[in-house]
Amino acid sequence: MSKIKCTVLECAYNKDVMCNAPMIQVNHNGVRRSRESAQTQCDTFKPKDL
Ligand code: SF4
Repeated sequence: MSKIKCTVLECAYNKDVMCNAPMIQVNHNGVRRSRESAQTQCDTFKPKDL
């Protein structure tokens, strides 16, 4: 898998500011056609058990 840097430290898959998931799924974020990165989102996000 490609190296994915991710600053969402509260995700269970985050390890040292990198994504450690075997794969991720990224979807549109509230729009039918994304035109900027803010209009995409990682659906693989899982909250850490705190
Ligand atoms: S699953 Fe998504 S939110 Fe979680 S570390 Fe990976 S890229 Fe970031």
